Amino acid sequence: MTKPVDPSEKTFLARIEILNQRILEAKKHDLYPYMHSSDAVEGVHVTVHGRRMLQFASYSYLDLLGHPKINAAAKRAIDEFGTGTHGVRFLAGTTRIHVELEKKIASFKKTEAAVAVASGYGANFGTISALLGRHDVVISDKINHASIVDGCILSRAQFVRFEHNDMAALETALGEAPKKGTKLVVVDAVFSMDGDIINLPEVIKLCRKFKALLMIDEAHSLGVLGKKGHGLEEHFGIDPTEGLIDIRMGTLSKTIPSIGGYIAGSTKLVNYLRHSIRPFIFSAALPPPSAAAAKTAFEVIEDEPWRVEKLQKNADYFLKTLQARGFDTLKSQTAIVPIVIGNEAKALEMTRLTRNEGIFIVPILPPAVQPNTTRIRATVTAGHSLQEIDRAINTFEKIAKSLGILRP
Ligand SMILES: *Cc1c(COP(=O)(O)O)cnc(C)c1O
Repeated sequence: MTKPVDPSEKTFLARIEILNQRILEAKKHDLYPYMHSSDAVEGVHVTVHGRRMLQFASYSYLDLLGHPKINAAAKRAIDEFGTGTHGVRFLAGTTRIHVELEKKIASFKKTEAAVAVASGYGANFGTISALLGRHDVVISDKINHASIVDGCILSRAQFVRFEHNDMAALETALGEAPKKGTKLVVVDAVFSMDGDIINLPEVIKLCRKFKALLMIDEAHSLGVLGKKGHGLEEHFGIDPTEGLIDIRMGTLSKTIPSIGGYIAGSTKLVNYLRHSIRPFIFSAALPPPSAAAAKTAFEVIEDEPWRVEKLQKNADYFLKTLQARGFDTLKSQTAIVPIVIGNEAKALEMTRLTRNEGIFIVPILPPAVQPNTTRIRATVTAGHSLQEIDRAINTFEKIAKSLGILRP
């Protein structure tokens, strides 16, 4: 339908033609689900093509997008520094706000230091490719984010992928890695398509046993996991100051309603990265209003702990109710909830019908996931009320029954 054309197929021009035809065909049947622009965003409501819908596809897990304190901080930063910088962070683009943001990230993550990059994607691929070379090995979970995969490829290290969250497979991969050279294990904390949580205690044990470095991507665990939203280690009751995780990556574009990514860790690691992450050295700095918004968002998470509590209650209710109605939600334990449909045409039709009923969701199709796990992905936030969650679930149920996804 709308998936990219296999690059081994046809010529460059033919591939462009095929993809354009697929898009046209999907649009003709109102089955093209991507890049619909919203005209208004207020809390968990979004207006698309004149229809006001309940948003169930947001990454703003703590509903911080539009928070008055965060907006005010961004506006103040514009008055003070303008809308851009004098270039890249490495040369003339660092402002006081960038320095304050990095201090705030380090204190939130309880690390010695942090560096902020203008995108999470750049933080991941820039870090992995800066740390490893031809004589090293990188061991990556099979469903890690694309920004990790790209970093692994660009690093030219030996690239080993292990079965998703399978600790026996990780142990085998570590055992088979050459003794010489650096070994880096890299995993998502919460997996962006499945919503399940990495088995951190076991990963740490194996990294210690095989003397491997450990890098964690907290894009979907920051503000989501742990009693106070500090993330993966808080969830498992692991003390961050013990140094069991070497490299902590996170984004400023999801729970934190801004743009950018960070790496938190030891002062020496961060110093090294400031001199070697290519997107930090060769790509423009975070705009000051974005940096100020991000810094203030960390403060709001600490000042308003009810948001984390409410998100976790909502996620729990959403998951348990969907399961009770007979939906397959894989192993999700978080605010990201896959609803397995298993059939591409049905997933697209369910998306269309659900949006017509005023609930905004997205389909996840192959090759992003295995064809038999083609799914709708719904995310819940701290901004939803239980009534709104019920309304979404009732709509999913009605439509899934009408399409034969659930038994009537
Ligand atoms: C979104 C995401 C990123 C990239 O972050 P951006 O700030 O959007 O570039 C990296 N890793 C994971 C797991 C993500 O979900």
